[in-house]
Amino acid sequence: MRAMILEAPRTPLRWAEVPDPEPGEGQVLLRVRACAVCRTDLHVVDGELPHPKRPIIPGHEIVAEVVGRGPGATRFALGTRVGVPWLGYTCGKCRYCLSGRENLCAEARFTGYQLDGGYAESCVADERFCFPLPEGYPDLQVAPLLCAGLIGHRTLRAAGDAERIGIYGFGAAAHIVAQEATARGQKVYAFTRPGDEAGQAFARRLGAVWAGGSADLPPEELDAALIFAPAGELVPLALKAVARGGTVVCGGIHMSDIPSFPYELLWGERTLRSIANLTRKDGEEFLALAPKVPVRTEVQPFPLEQANEALSALRHGKLHGAAVLQVSPDAR
Ligand SMILES: [Zn+2]
Ligand SMILES: [Zn+2]
Repeated sequence: MRAMILEAPRTPLRWAEVPDPEPGEGQVLLRVRACAVCRTDLHVVDGELPHPKRPIIPGHEIVAEVVGRGPGATRFALGTRVGVPWLGYTCGKCRYCLSGRENLCAEARFTGYQLDGGYAESCVADERFCFPLPEGYPDLQVAPLLCAGLIGHRTLRAAGDAERIGIYGFGAAAHIVAQEATARGQKVYAFTRPGDEAGQAFARRLGAVWAGGSADLPPEELDAALIFAPAGELVPLALKAVARGGTVVCGGIHMSDIPSFPYELLWGERTLRSIANLTRKDGEEFLALAPKVPVRTEVQPFPLEQANEALSALRHGKLHGAAVLQVSPDAR
């Protein structure tokens, strides 16, 4: 199969021919149709996450067809379209796994980081961690739901029933969350890089009642803020924008250091928290919800061999919505 491979951090992915993977116990062999590009892929490429597999095939928003089954794999019939998310394995035995918090399992392994992912024509996955996908979505449009959508949903849920929600960093996750929040009757305030007027117009088009630069204060105090951009300096800015009793949720896996700030910004019973990974329950919940909103994703397709260009577009804020690798020519 052909694949894009990361050999060493901070180097471009290499286009290579490698042997097809073999499905092991409980695994399915998948022919990849599409794989969305996530900001976490940039953190993997940049060597910002500990204990990666190397070399690694990135990609954890995989839309694929089941074409083979390893010993004991019986969950999906051949030909089924499935999604493979970031969470690729958990121990099933620890106190986190046994209390509905498998996203925090210390033994967890992650797709496209510790397990080879979807920047390839084929991959294997533990069938217990694959999702059946909602029928109404084409392959390219459903791919970003598998991380941007899922993590965005978990992040939004952590903000509770906030009436006014700020979103810092209006990328793939934000463009989905804005639709979900608006459908729930919440008011969305979008914060982009200062001067990014196209990004602000995009946010308004998706239902934001206000859009501005990240250093601006919104016209009204917020009840919650979700931070998707990996910039620690946004944390005090977001705390400043939320009202007493408000919550700031960091949705990313990696962030630059948070600068020190006066206690006054946190005082008044404000909460600052993060979101880590996903549980399978999050996935089932969100994939059932998305068609009801209905969430519509905006995608920019790239051929597999242009994964480096897709990552670069994401890094430089050139995308509206999500970049998606169109891996199979018959992806719809
Ligand atoms: Zn566990
Ligand atoms: Zn992701």
